[in-house]
Amino acid sequence: APLDRSARTYVAGHRGLVGGAVLAHLQAEGFTDLVTATSAEVDLRDRGAVEAFFDRERPATVVLAAAKVGGILANATYPADFFSDNIRIQTNVLDAAAATGTERLLFLGSSCIYPKFAEQPIREDSLLTGLLEPTNDAYAIAKIAGVLQVQALRRQHGVHYISAMPTNLYGPGDNFNPEGSHVLPGLIRRFEAARLDGDPTVTVWGTGTPRREFLHVSDLARACVHLLENYDDGAPVNIGVGEDLPIAELAQLVADTVGYTGELVFDTTKPDGTPRKLLDVSTIHGLGWRAEIGLREGLAATVAWYREQLAAGTV
Ligand code: GDP
Repeated sequence: APLDRSARTYVAGHRGLVGGAVLAHLQAEGFTDLVTATSAEVDLRDRGAVEAFFDRERPATVVLAAAKVGGILANATYPADFFSDNIRIQTNVLDAAAATGTERLLFLGSSCIYPKFAEQPIREDSLLTGLLEPTNDAYAIAKIAGVLQVQALRRQHGVHYISAMPTNLYGPGDNFNPEGSHVLPGLIRRFEAARLDGDPTVTVWGTGTPRREFLHVSDLARACVHLLENYDDGAPVNIGVGEDLPIAELAQLVADTVGYTGELVFDTTKPDGTPRKLLDVSTIHGLGWRAEIGLREGLAATVAWYREQLAAGTV
């Protein structure tokens, strides 16, 4: 059913890559009663703070895009934080939403919840059929718990809450911090710095052979609203483009996009992570949504955004 554009709608995590894009999309779609709170205003890890916020604001619709996220190194270095922060954020928000009458809610997971050696492309029903990739298992278990909580709330309280599993995301607003970032912002930053400094080589982590799929965050934002309006079931729905490429090819594409002409060196002391995680997107295609922004186009726009931030001194 269509969402009520005048109903109070809360985007949790609006300062992040996903929440920021969702908020912009909702504004463009004519939602008039949007609510947000920074982590300084409401620390979502704090149960009392979340309960008070929901008691006061009583959103009818919630997009739960708040999470502690990071690239392969951050996940491997701070597994306890990734576990605890995410468990607390999602449990607090889901409980408070159900307790205060939120009607529609979308919980965002991640493609890393699927087994490391799941059959490719990964179907939604492969969840919990095998062991996880160890570099991000703590994060993955937290996100799996969120999917299960959504299903449990549906069963026990009859709420219309749903879960979606996006593939690797990128776009304007991404985290470009070299320690915490995912591969795309990490590479954009290093290739741009090497171009400016005239470095003859750029280091790419791992062997370059793992394959990844990349979805532009504006496409994801469209998918989130589409699912809230067209899907009402406890089974998670994959959100992806249905195509992937090896990290080595991705690195060359980034080099070409920023105009770097030097050599690529692979640092095999850095982890590769899971060999492949291409999502099967037939469910969401069947619901009438597909990705529209190609990687070349999306990458060029993201590089342009990054250069603006560099010039403004904000990254
Ligand atoms: P993952 O999809 O959970 O493994 O997360 P990442 O986006 O952090 O990493 C994806 C792949 O890109 C892994 O095989 C990394 O080793 C590789 N990679 C290559 N260069 C970089 C880099 O500069 N930063 C990150 N985060 N990953 C990189």
